[in-house]
Amino acid sequence: MRKKIVVGNWKMNLSRKEADDLVREISQSTSLDNNTEIVFAPPFIYLDSVSSVCLNRQFFSTAAQNCSSYSNGAYTGEISAQMIDSLEVKYVIIGHSERRQNFNETDKVLNLKMNQALKNNLNVIFCCGEDINQREANQHFDIIEKQLSSTIFKLDIHNFKDIIIAYEPIWAIGTGKTASSDQAQEMHSFIRSLIDKRYDNKTGSLTLLLYGGSCNASNAYELFSKEDIDGGLIGGASLNSSDFISIIKSF
Ligand code: PEP
Repeated sequence: MRKKIVVGNWKMNLSRKEADDLVREISQSTSLDNNTEIVFAPPFIYLDSVSSVCLNRQFFSTAAQNCSSYSNGAYTGEISAQMIDSLEVKYVIIGHSERRQNFNETDKVLNLKMNQALKNNLNVIFCCGEDINQREANQHFDIIEKQLSSTIFKLDIHNFKDIIIAYEPIWAIGTGKTASSDQAQEMHSFIRSLIDKRYDNKTGSLTLLLYGGSCNASNAYELFSKEDIDGGLIGGASLNSSDFISIIKSF
């Protein structure tokens, strides 16, 4: 059986105090007892302190929002996968549409980052998703297949076990416009069938698939009740402890 997992992507938000308060309120919540893995993806500057809290709590872990495509050296401002691993961080998010769009991250760069991450013991939360024009032109399945074929499907089966896929339709990210649970399930089931085809049925049935895109305390239950949705990658609603706790309890 696949585990359940909820990842909070804070993006470039929160002061130091707000970050500390949020982690304390969620990690000390007594109502969380459903075995769901809870992952915080804070900005790099808070990663060390959030990771220290999570290391002492069962079911809690951390993700970096990014990592460098280089291993080390003269790359001012970059953070390597090795440095992230040294903080005992478990995951790194790669391929988020905001990084693809705002920082011109191409498949080539994503593949370099993925190799760095996997080489340094990090599990990858790999994002894919179509934009509104592609959805309206009914190209969404082709687009997702292309995005996966040119990146994670290049990995061999031995590395693929360290990959979680987040389906995040771009038109739903930060817009308040969620994919319906049927639209999300349809895509998740398609992605699982692609994994079956590329690798094998066992790999397909074990790979965790997350939904992301305006997932919140009101729609999480319906989304998470779908067969192929194993949890969520949550942006805006992960910044508020009671909303995030409600989402975690939505299984
Ligand atoms: C995200 O950034 O991955 C995301 C899903 O954002 P939001 O939940 O705010 O749409």
